Amino acid sequence: MNTHANPQPERTDFIRDIVAADLREGHHQTVVTRFPPEPNGYLHIGHAKSICLNFGVAQEFGGHCNLRFDDTNPQKEEQEYIDSIEADVRWLGFDWGEYLYFASDNFEQLYEWALVLIRDGKAYVDDLSADEIREYRGTLTEPGTDSPWRDRSAEESSDLFARMRAGEFPNGSRVLRAKIDMAAPNINLRDPILYRILHSEHPRTGDAWCVYPTYDFAHGQSDAIEGITHSLCTLEFQDHRPLYDWFLENLPVPSRPHQYEFARLNLTHTVLSKRVLLRLVNEGYVRGWDDARMPTLSGLRRRGFPAQGIRDFAAMIGVARADSVVEVEMLEHAVRDVLNRTALRRFAVVDPIKLVIENYPEGQTEELEVPNNPEDPSAGTRRVPFTRELWIEHDDFMEDPPKKFFRLAPGREVRLRSAYFVTCHEVVRDGEGAIVELRCTYDPGTRGGAAPDGRRPKATLHWLSAATAVPAEVRLYEHLFVDAFPGADGRDLFDDINPESETVRTGCFVEPCMGDPEIGRTVQFERLGYFCADPDSAPGAPAFNRTLTLRDTWARVQAQGRQDAE
Ligand code: ATP
Ligand code: MG
Repeated sequence: MNTHANPQPERTDFIRDIVAADLREGHHQTVVTRFPPEPNGYLHIGHAKSICLNFGVAQEFGGHCNLRFDDTNPQKEEQEYIDSIEADVRWLGFDWGEYLYFASDNFEQLYEWALVLIRDGKAYVDDLSADEIREYRGTLTEPGTDSPWRDRSAEESSDLFARMRAGEFPNGSRVLRAKIDMAAPNINLRDPILYRILHSEHPRTGDAWCVYPTYDFAHGQSDAIEGITHSLCTLEFQDHRPLYDWFLENLPVPSRPHQYEFARLNLTHTVLSKRVLLRLVNEGYVRGWDDARMPTLSGLRRRGFPAQGIRDFAAMIGVARADSVVEVEMLEHAVRDVLNRTALRRFAVVDPIKLVIENYPEGQTEELEVPNNPEDPSAGTRRVPFTRELWIEHDDFMEDPPKKFFRLAPGREVRLRSAYFVTCHEVVRDGEGAIVELRCTYDPGTRGGAAPDGRRPKATLHWLSAATAVPAEVRLYEHLFVDAFPGADGRDLFDDINPESETVRTGCFVEPCMGDPEIGRTVQFERLGYFCADPDSAPGAPAFNRTLTLRDTWARVQAQGRQDAE
C-alpha cells in the first residue's frame, strides 16, 4: 500500500484525534507507529485490529509503521512464527517496507542501559528466588517489602550482572530489578524485574545471551530507539505505562515515545489467547494453526475470508478505550459483503441424487451459458455442460412434500438454473427402499430458464451434468466453540468446544471448471454458500472449505440486541 500523506483520514477515533493534534501542534513532525508481535504463535483476528490501526494511522497521516518482533523470550519463540507473521501482515495488505525490527537487535544497547541504571543506584541484582520475590511483592491492598539485596552497592550489582551475562549462574538464581518503590500502589512499580537468566537458544541471537530483558524493559526502549511517536497497545498495558515512562525518563534514550491504550478485540464464539490457540493445535483439537476453524489470519485465509473483509471489519468496529465483545456475526457480515460483490458463482452438489431426463437424447451434450456473478455483469458468463443425466441436491426433492416445500416433488415442475424446466414423474428406489434416481422430462422450449408462455416455477435448483462433474470433498464448518462466551461461568473452556465444528463430506460434485481450482480463491456455490479451495486439493480431486453460508445473521443479531436493550 502506498503511504502518501492524507491530512483528512476517512474516519476518526481517539487515537487519530491525538495523532492529528500532535501533528497540528508541532509535537511531532511525522507519525511513526509499530506493530510489535511476540513470535510465540500465529497472528489472529485480534492482531488484525492492531495491524489495521497501526499501519492505518501511519498511512493516513503520511508516516510509517514498523514491524517489530518482540523477541525477548527465547523459550517460546520460533522462526516458524516469525515467517508466518510476516506472511500474514503482507496478506492483510500492509507493507513495512524497510522498517523491519527485532527487539533482540537491541540486546547490547539494553544491557548498556541496565548498567546505567545500576550505576545510578536505580537497579540492583537480587538473589531472592522467584517465590520469595512474589511473597515480598505484597498485594493490591498491602505494600511490598524491600528485598535484603536492595541496597547492595552499585559495584557489586554491576559485577554480578556481568557474571550473569557471562553464564556463571543457573536459571532463576538471580534477577536484575529496578529500584523504584516497594510500597507503590501500582504493583508494576514495585521493583520490577529487568533481566532474568535463561540458558536458552534464541532464534536470532543463538547462544550469545543467557540473560534476557523482560517485555517491560525492552518495549519502551525499543520504541525510543526506533523513533516511535505513538506506541499503541491494548488496555492491559495501561498499568505498565508509569513504568514505561519511568524507564524513558531515567535513561539517555534518543527519543521520547508515548504509549496509548485501546480496547482489545473480543469476539463471541472465539478465543483469542495464543496460549489457548497453541493448546488447540498441540492437543489435536484442530488440524493446525491454519485450520479453517481457527481465528488466526492463516486459518481465516484457508477458510476463504478475503483480506478486504477483515480490513472492513476492523474499520466497522473502530477503536475505543472501553473493552467490549463484538458478535462474530459482524465479522461474517463484513466478509459476506465483500464476497457477494466479488465471488464468482459456481455449481456444486454436496449431497447428490441422480436426475434422469427421459426425453433428452442419450449421448447429447449442450453448453449452457451461466452468469459468473449476477451482482457484477463484468464478471461475464461461462459455459456449463448439460446432459441427460444430472446431479441435483438430495434435499431439493421430497416425495411427499409438506405445504411450504416448493422444490422438486412428483408431478411438480421446477427450473434448473440457466437451463430448462423439468418435471418429475417417477422415483426409483434401490433394494433397501432408498431413493436413487428421479425420472423427469424437460421442456425444450424453456432453454436458458424462461418459458415462452410466461409460466414460472416456484423453485430454481442448481445442477451438474453427471457425465462431466468432478468428485470433490467438501468441509462444512460451524463455530469452534458452541458457547458465545467460551469458558464463561467457571466452565472449562475446552468443554465448550463444538464437537460438530467440522463435517467432512465426500462424494460431492463440482463443475468441471472447479476440478483444478485456484487455492485460496473463494467462490459462491449457488444456494450453498461461499467456498474456498483448500491446499489439500489435488488436480482432479479438489477439497473445498465452506467459508460461510449465504444467510447473513448479523441483522438478526442486531435486532436481538435492540430487543435485549429495551
Ligand atoms: P496473547 O495475550 O494471546 O499472548 P499478545 O497480546 O501477547 O497475545 P502479542 O504478539 O504481544 O500478543 O501482540 C502484538 C500486538 O497485538 C500487541 O500490541 C497487542 O496489544 C495486539 N493484540 C493482541 N491481541 C489483540 C486483540 N485481541 N485485540 C487487539 N489487539 C491485540
Ligand atoms: Mg504480548
